[in-house]
Amino acid sequence: METQLDYSDILIVPRHSSVNSRSEVDLMRVNMGRIPWSGVPIVAANMATIGTLEMAEALAKSMWLTCLHKHYTAAEILSLSRDGQYFSAPTIGLDTTSRETFRQVMEKRNDFKFVCIDVANGYIDNFSELVYNIRREYGDRVNIIAGNVVTPEGVRLLCKAGADFIKVGIGPGSACTTRKMTGVGFPQFSAVQMCVKEARQIPGLSGIVADGGCVHPGDVSKAFAAGAQMVMLGGMLAGHDEAGGWEFDYTTNTMVPTFYGMASEHAMQTHYNQRNHYRAAEGKRVVIEQKGPVENTVREIMGGVRSACTYVGAKNLDELSKNSDFIKVNRQYNTAFGD
Ligand code: 5GP
Repeated sequence: METQLDYSDILIVPRHSSVNSRSEVDLMRVNMGRIPWSGVPIVAANMATIGTLEMAEALAKSMWLTCLHKHYTAAEILSLSRDGQYFSAPTIGLDTTSRETFRQVMEKRNDFKFVCIDVANGYIDNFSELVYNIRREYGDRVNIIAGNVVTPEGVRLLCKAGADFIKVGIGPGSACTTRKMTGVGFPQFSAVQMCVKEARQIPGLSGIVADGGCVHPGDVSKAFAAGAQMVMLGGMLAGHDEAGGWEFDYTTNTMVPTFYGMASEHAMQTHYNQRNHYRAAEGKRVVIEQKGPVENTVREIMGGVRSACTYVGAKNLDELSKNSDFIKVNRQYNTAFGD
């Protein structure tokens, strides 16, 4: 058994570079996907506190994508501006409501180029069937992002079902307790690398979305360097003005931001008002610090990724992945003055 690695276990090795400044780096992907889309391939997660309409409008200004959470109505989703729609994706789960909402959205004129089909365990037959049906019904109009899986077998399964982008990540998320509760998972850096290798051998597949586990801007760089076509973020975008989950705190008499996993007890109570007896929670809820407008964090993340590109002589994200070598480390950085 070989040890598999997380982002914190590796570093990107610097090399000679003729890219002298971050301003020479372009983070756009142009005409990506089967239904061409151009933008910066960093994606807000379809979590109730992250994939909000406000987040979509704010991130659209930086040309990032937002996977909207699946609890909006069709009218709410269609209330997004044209840019807001172009830079976001409605989300469907295994439930019938979100699928019906998507049908209503697609009945109307719209600018969506993606749909996100999301379930915790992308290996089950019901999920492949759902992806297959959505591809059959809407495949000429939207790119399909589907997941989550973490192995080449999973990539093949979802590709066969009709996914264009395959979301990779089981258990790396900041609000996730799957690994603790079930003992199932795969270290995220290795999972992304392995799934990218598989995806590159499948003609017509658009690529891998590295989903979860990014804590610092450097982790986003590592995911792109590993070959991810897009990188999805939850926790790094939490606590901003545009995020959801603000709650009144009676001890301080102020509104405080919360962040919770979509499989947490809190999410089940909030969005379904129930919890099935056979189902254990696989997520947690945390109260977090306020971080202000998301555009500051966006700038910081893009600055970090641009800088990573200059260290390996990359003018864009494709070159970042081509030029990157990795080393395994015992310690990622110096914590003498905190994290
Ligand atoms: P983060 O960027 O916060 O590390 O990870 C975000 C990802 O965590 C989401 O896109 C989703 O794939 C995953 N996630 C969200 N909520 C839950 C949950 O309750 N349980 C699990 N296992 N994963 C979750």
